[in-house]
Amino acid sequence: MNNKSEQLTLIPKIYCSLFGHDYQVTKKVTYHVKEYTCCHCKKQLTTNSNGKLIELTPKFKEINDILERIHSKRMMRSRRKTITSSIY
Ligand SMILES: [Zn+2]
Repeated sequence: MNNKSEQLTLIPKIYCSLFGHDYQVTKKVTYHVKEYTCCHCKKQLTTNSNGKLIELTPKFKEINDILERIHSKRMMRSRRKTITSSIY
């Protein structure tokens, strides 16, 4: 029983090593930075400041959280600006 479930968890990893990861966007941090998760093995990636894909470590998760907060604040400010400019 235990052995069988262990084998099952190994299958997605074998699949990925054969066919490559199948990443899907799981979170949009900013316009340029996104977080991806492989739908087979749940490996997570993110875009770094150079626009390259790197493994999503807890450190980068933290950075992305900060980026996201700054980004959403900026979005709110720019939205407010467009509202007032459409009034006048
Ligand atoms: Zn994978």
